[in-house]
Amino acid sequence: MSTTATTQPTAIELAQQIQQGEQTATSLVEQSFQTIDAHDSKIQAFISLTKEQALNTAAEVDQKAKNGDTLPLLAGVPIALKDNINLIGTETTCASHILKGYKSTYNATVVEKLLSHGLPIVGKTNLDEFAMGSSNENSAFFPTKNPWDTNRVPGGSSGGSAACVSAGMVPLSLGSDTGGSVRQPAALCGLVGLKPTYGTVSRYGLVAFASSLDQISPFARTVDDASAIYQVIAGHDDKDSTSRSDTANLLHSLSNTKLASGDLSGTTIGVITELDGESEGSKDAFQPATTKAFHQAIDQFKALGATIQPISLPSLKYAVAAYYILATAEASSNLGRFDGVRYGNRQEESNDTLHPMYKRTRSNGFGAEVKRRIMLGTFSLSAGYYDAFYGKAQQVRQLLKTEFNQAFSSVDGLICPTSPSTAFNIGEKSDDPVAMYLSDISTIPINLAGIPAMSLPCGKDEAGLPIGLQILAPHFAEPKMLSIAKAYETASGFSNWVAPV
Ligand code: GLN
Repeated sequence: MSTTATTQPTAIELAQQIQQGEQTATSLVEQSFQTIDAHDSKIQAFISLTKEQALNTAAEVDQKAKNGDTLPLLAGVPIALKDNINLIGTETTCASHILKGYKSTYNATVVEKLLSHGLPIVGKTNLDEFAMGSSNENSAFFPTKNPWDTNRVPGGSSGGSAACVSAGMVPLSLGSDTGGSVRQPAALCGLVGLKPTYGTVSRYGLVAFASSLDQISPFARTVDDASAIYQVIAGHDDKDSTSRSDTANLLHSLSNTKLASGDLSGTTIGVITELDGESEGSKDAFQPATTKAFHQAIDQFKALGATIQPISLPSLKYAVAAYYILATAEASSNLGRFDGVRYGNRQEESNDTLHPMYKRTRSNGFGAEVKRRIMLGTFSLSAGYYDAFYGKAQQVRQLLKTEFNQAFSSVDGLICPTSPSTAFNIGEKSDDPVAMYLSDISTIPINLAGIPAMSLPCGKDEAGLPIGLQILAPHFAEPKMLSIAKAYETASGFSNWVAPV
């Protein structure tokens, strides 16, 4: 495996080239499809492609550029969508047999926003079935490969969206992050992954997994590109009852701040002691190369003038357990709608009445992990167990929120490694769901608290595989978080990585 990465223009640079007439959106879409044709048989990032639609969007952008119109932010830059986001007229499968054949009858709000900004959508990417997993191996169709080493997983559940950006097929993509599904694959593929404050990006048109945790989130190769695509997709939406109505200031400040690339003096960054790779609990759980890169990142922050402060979050040890109760409880209810009547694939035999048809459809349609989660969720919500499991997990969630609030009264941001290890081999953890669940320790607490966090590259291990650094911030503090990230990215030089496919 070669580890020399090539660089490519950023999404922002490409959009500028289109605006200035140095490049056309059509040629960018064509280049995207050439790269997909060359590499996707090996990487398997995509479930379906939408070339005609992408070329139509590109042609409209090119026409506007030709007329001398001022183009919207990122117009003409090709983007991929995780296949749990509805794009009208295309199959939205959630990588599940149960939805095979289901065609979206409407656009997700984020899709409307992408199209109104002129971003050509090139296709729908692979995922763990219904976004449940950390490796992409739970896709009912095929596992996506990590472009840095095709024997390894790209992470999950948004592994397809990570792999296509990492392999240089598109500069940007969207995934969804319920417990880390954008930040962890970003870490494993050497990308920037941004999980926004809960409620700042509409969930309308995202197939729900755990509604109180789900957040559509972008992948990019630089911090500036992540900020730009976030600005395209964020904003209040009447169609999502959990959408925040107070996003205007956030968007205003993002569009008006040029992310600082230098000094961090005056900024205090907390190191989460439970996740520092040296404390009792994390020493054995974290790969040594990850711990080393993380501590080099701490030194980099000090060199940039930041004050570093250790922060303990005592309830963190309960986060994974609480998440797997709350997320499965919500999933068991959300997935009740897939019954063979309304969506996709119905399985029935000639003398089946309604209940046998439901049973046959759901037994054949869902994979093992999805069934495991529906059963876990149904169990913890059932009478007699609700207080012991669901109620307790909600208490943990509240404790975590309180601890984060306390932490943010003394620090501007928190840091930890995004994932305990770099990309693992395909098959390495697939027989051990608990080991797989525990690999989400750094990312899950963020979704429980609803705060924003992002992953960005902070080095490579001895095999040349990317390592991710996670930065966390208080609700609505994306501008500060992105500034801290940009300062680190500039100083470290770990930016704009494309895997040597
Ligand atoms: N890996 C976590 C899970 O399996 C997170 C998934 C996600 O964020 N969609 O639940």
